[in-house]
Amino acid sequence: MILFEEFRVNTHEREVLLEITNEITQIVKNSNINKGTCSVFVPHTTAGITINENADRSVMKDVANYLNKLIPKGGGLGYSFKHGEGNSDAHIKCSLTGNSIDVLIHDGKLMLGTWQGIMFAEYDGPKNRKVFVQITGEF
Ligand code: ZN
Repeated sequence: MILFEEFRVNTHEREVLLEITNEITQIVKNSNINKGTCSVFVPHTTAGITINENADRSVMKDVANYLNKLIPKGGGLGYSFKHGEGNSDAHIKCSLTGNSIDVLIHDGKLMLGTWQGIMFAEYDGPKNRKVFVQITGEF
């Protein structure tokens, strides 16, 4: 069985990592899939998705802030961005973060670790973004 769902994320800052674990958990629950894989794909070039700690919110702030120090909006390291849109930093951060994750489903539950959460990574907000979820498995 393969199930597909789409939902939206509103980001309110230029750069922010937002937890979307609850949204994904709800989709998995509604699917009634017992064993399988949940793939989450972000169809954007200046936003991505990652799994990281959700217990201490400052971890996600540190990730976003540190990426911004490494790759500032105006560029750095003696290199001038060629892309005229002015958001090359966001494209680079997107490539580093990646656009998809897979999480195993076992006994109807996402097999995330105790401290793991699924984070939507916005690098060129604020925007209304899409998230695609595809669940493959058996009931
Ligand atoms: Zn661009």
